[in-house]
Amino acid sequence: MQDPIKILGVPVHAMTMQEAVKTLEERMLAKEQTFVVTANAEIIMMCQENAEYKKIICEDAELVLPDGAGAVWAGRHLGYKVPERVAGFDLYNELLDLSAHKGYKAYFFGGSPGVAEAAKAKSEELYPGVQVVGCHNGYFKDEDVPQIIADINASGADMLFVALGAPKQEKWLVAHRAELNAKILMGIGGFDVLAGKMERAPKWMQDASLEWAFRLYKQPSRFMRMMALPKFVIKVMASKF
Ligand code: UDP
Repeated sequence: MQDPIKILGVPVHAMTMQEAVKTLEERMLAKEQTFVVTANAEIIMMCQENAEYKKIICEDAELVLPDGAGAVWAGRHLGYKVPERVAGFDLYNELLDLSAHKGYKAYFFGGSPGVAEAAKAKSEELYPGVQVVGCHNGYFKDEDVPQIIADINASGADMLFVALGAPKQEKWLVAHRAELNAKILMGIGGFDVLAGKMERAPKWMQDASLEWAFRLYKQPSRFMRMMALPKFVIKVMASKF
């Protein structure tokens, strides 16, 4: 795997979507477990403020991909070649498509009761032949964890998608990865978009790097969280000097 670039001290693998999927598939076939993180500006900023989270992203994740216009801009601003944005939602869809073609098994863990199941139904419509072999909602007690892990392992899942919100999902994956047989471990924003319960920004907005504006418009409560974005831009500009 190529050496990562560094954005505010966070290693990011500046590869294309196709290269990311190929890397994940090759490692899976070699029986190597990969914890993959799609790092957007918010995640990179969370690393600046939370040492535990930074350790997870910098030391535990084998693959960290540039998600969001902010991460791509930052990499390029710092003088690196960043071919494209590898958004978590897009990578998730690519891996489901791969499952449909190659029979790899996926498990959806997280979200409100019924949402992962709705995403499974939608993925079966979008990617005929996709193997979603199990679902579990993301509202559980600590004492339920052994049973959840047993269910994931019994399903034979090769890829585990976890939507518990950041940083909870990354912490959960790192704490339990040794007990999990799945070879691709990935935290995602939620199953809600695929399940049709939440809208994603239209393609033109994504292409114009305006996905953040769409999210803010749909969920004004995200305002405080999104303040991370201008802070990120200022920090990256300052880090250049
Ligand atoms: N979630 C979950 N269990 C939790 C907390 C969150 O399954 O204990 C799910 C939630 O249903 C949503 C996703 O994790 O699908 C992201 O949650 P968050 O509250 O971080 O929402 P965001 O603001 O990122 O959309």
